[in-house]
Amino acid sequence: MPARRLVVEASRLRHQQELIAAVRDAGGEIVLDTEAAELASVGRHSGRVRTAPWALPEGAGPLGPDHFRADAKSDVIGQIARLAVSSGVTAVLSPAHHLGDPAFRDWFSVDRDACLALRRALDREGGQGIAIDYPLIVPNAVLNQPNQRGILVATLAALPIDYVWLRVAGLGADAGPLQLSRYLSAVAGLHNLGKPVIADQLGGLPGQAALAFGGVSGIAQGIGERERFDTGDWHKPAKPRPDDAKFGRAVRLSIPGLNRTLTRSELDVLASAKNGRRICGCADRACCKHGYDSMVADPRGHAARQFFNSIAKLEAVPDLRRETYFLSHDGPMAKADRTAREIKALRPDAAEAARHNIDPEALMKRLAEHSRTTEKIRTTLETIHETRGNDVPRARVAALRSGGAPKAAKGQP
Ligand SMILES: [Zn+2]
Repeated sequence: MPARRLVVEASRLRHQQELIAAVRDAGGEIVLDTEAAELASVGRHSGRVRTAPWALPEGAGPLGPDHFRADAKSDVIGQIARLAVSSGVTAVLSPAHHLGDPAFRDWFSVDRDACLALRRALDREGGQGIAIDYPLIVPNAVLNQPNQRGILVATLAALPIDYVWLRVAGLGADAGPLQLSRYLSAVAGLHNLGKPVIADQLGGLPGQAALAFGGVSGIAQGIGERERFDTGDWHKPAKPRPDDAKFGRAVRLSIPGLNRTLTRSELDVLASAKNGRRICGCADRACCKHGYDSMVADPRGHAARQFFNSIAKLEAVPDLRRETYFLSHDGPMAKADRTAREIKALRPDAAEAARHNIDPEALMKRLAEHSRTTEKIRTTLETIHETRGNDVPRARVAALRSGGAPKAAKGQP
């Protein structure tokens, strides 16, 4: 559970050597994401993943099933194994694909063989100590279907893997009550595997609820990004994009405990209301020394510290008490509910809203809606907690691994 693990995307690995070394020296875990799924996607392969070492040359299209076979001329599996060994990672995410790809329905059997081939390649290349984790990338409907889930579990059980990383298309920090309760019962169906399950790219309150309720062993997300997984643009050709540098995404900020991000302009409008700065600003002086001003000056630092804090607090609670803590008066759920109510009651200054070109009524309507959803999530989780009792099987603990980092350890006792 502790945030001592780093996922490195193959396309970024060259630029993150210092970070990798620092995490490894601190005894942390490095997991290599091969980005195989994105590289095989019509809509994604030419995006930021195109600099992964095994991407095809520009204009040559996405990687297809044949590239992932053990005897493929392009030797993608061999390349992955060699990079994993040379960069001293702890584990590799098996090169698995989105099982909802409408262009190819048989990824699961290709991916199963690729996983076995990767194990052989790692062993051959000197990476016997490097573990393989399996990214299960599925549409919500597949995960929620007991029969289909059974097929997945039966196949995964026979693979040489440590952890299962679950990425559910269309699920994220903004999941509603129904989606969340279905997710909790679906992940329980994966516990039969007897392997830790990591909720991949599931941020916010839903990710923490899944942890607290024992549905998953850990969560993986970015800092202020990768809090939601979507495949909406994966299966149609990408539109030519304007230069990213010129049209950068608006910075979004997370209000402590609210479980929702806002743009800087929206936040400034809310802060213009009476009590707005106090309610929206970070009250944690160890995190943001000057409250609101510090928070907007360093939104990513604030998001990172708040995220690590929330995990540390959850970790400090014994396993079987975590649901109770999560729902308690001072727990994350009640806090999110309270903050959402306080924020929806704010009355932003009309002139400030006009200055930011924001319609205050539309903004407050969205925040009122968010408050209603948060309240429904709370009652849904309370019902789950009250009805199922304490003896529900929980996801296995994902112990920190160190076996795969031979570079630093070599020659030492
Ligand atoms: Zn802060």
